[in-house]
Amino acid sequence: MLANIRIVLTNTFHPGNIGAAARALKTMGLSQLYLVAPRCYPDPEATARAAGATDILEQARVVNTLEEAIADCPLVIGTSARSRSLPWPMLDARSCGEKVVREAAQGPVAVVFGRERMGLHNDELRQCHFHLAIPADPAYPVLNVSAAVQIVCYEIWQAAQGANVPTPENEGPFPPQAEMAHFYQHLEQTLREIDFLVPQHPGNTLTKLQRLFNRARPEVNELKMLRGILSAVQRSRR
Ligand code: SAH
Repeated sequence: MLANIRIVLTNTFHPGNIGAAARALKTMGLSQLYLVAPRCYPDPEATARAAGATDILEQARVVNTLEEAIADCPLVIGTSARSRSLPWPMLDARSCGEKVVREAAQGPVAVVFGRERMGLHNDELRQCHFHLAIPADPAYPVLNVSAAVQIVCYEIWQAAQGANVPTPENEGPFPPQAEMAHFYQHLEQTLREIDFLVPQHPGNTLTKLQRLFNRARPEVNELKMLRGILSAVQRSRR
């Protein structure tokens, strides 16, 4: 079950942070580290900071985009120290650990971490079902990225020890993120065809719709139905 949990680091600047994150994973029984376009990897500084976790570091998967890192994941959680302009469903570290462990019994789960300076971009946060903020002193709540990874991994480990987390029977299966991405493309295309979206004034309608569907988390069959509705709308329009 822990093998279904992946930690994704986005555009990491300091290779030392990659090593420290690998160590954080290993101490908490995790092994799946994904690196989205790291600035420097492999790197001696990463190896040094990984200490006894060089195996995790060497097995890390390097990908070019966040989309690639999360394509097969039915649950994606994005981390952020600050709340963003468009509020999103939030988790704290403890409830994140419980949720991740519960859903990892069914399929891959990703927890995504941002750049040292810039965090995650809004278009990246929009691809996540939940945002996780580690509660911290509001005067300065910004942790080093590998420290944030450690706390999240610790909560996952703790939740896994309790492991008596029953999977709700009436839930899922949920589609992987790549299918949600196709759905959003289909939705946008259809809304343009029926002139609900006008190119001159896109506003943030699509973002709000994405938030709605992320919150609702359609199951595989529900998503099929939604795609069917869009296709029917397109057919009748054409
Ligand atoms: N100025 C950036 C700070 C990034 S800190 C910003 O405001 O987002 C680097 C990364 O560490 C963040 O992208 C996030 O993944 C993680 N992080 C730091 N502090 C955090 C906190 N309190 N809660 C959750 N994640 C945090």
